[in-house]
Amino acid sequence: MPAPPTLVGFAWCDGVLDRRTVVRCALARVCGRCGRSLGRPVVFVGDHDEHDRNSFHLPPLHEECGQDLLRAAGPGHVLVRTGGFEFVRPGRDDPDEEPRFVPNSLL
Ligand SMILES: [Zn+2]
Repeated sequence: MPAPPTLVGFAWCDGVLDRRTVVRCALARVCGRCGRSLGRPVVFVGDHDEHDRNSFHLPPLHEECGQDLLRAAGPGHVLVRTGGFEFVRPGRDDPDEEPRFVPNSLL
């Protein structure tokens, strides 16, 4: 899990990222932190590895919610802004079993 257990929000259950809610956030375009509809830009928070791969595990966020989450996540995390994203579900032989987000219009 990329998220330390201190993170809380709409997509977390007892400090653990809830996969079903993450999928819901992706399909319904709602914020993973507050559960409200997303506008633009959309923000993602991740570690440097996720940033390098341009592939994030935490659900899409509002700017403000992303800033809150970035503070909570602590050092070693980054925030990116994008006009849009692709939602990637892991394939059967995918080494990464978690659904992820690929920003496709970085701002
Ligand atoms: Zn939000």
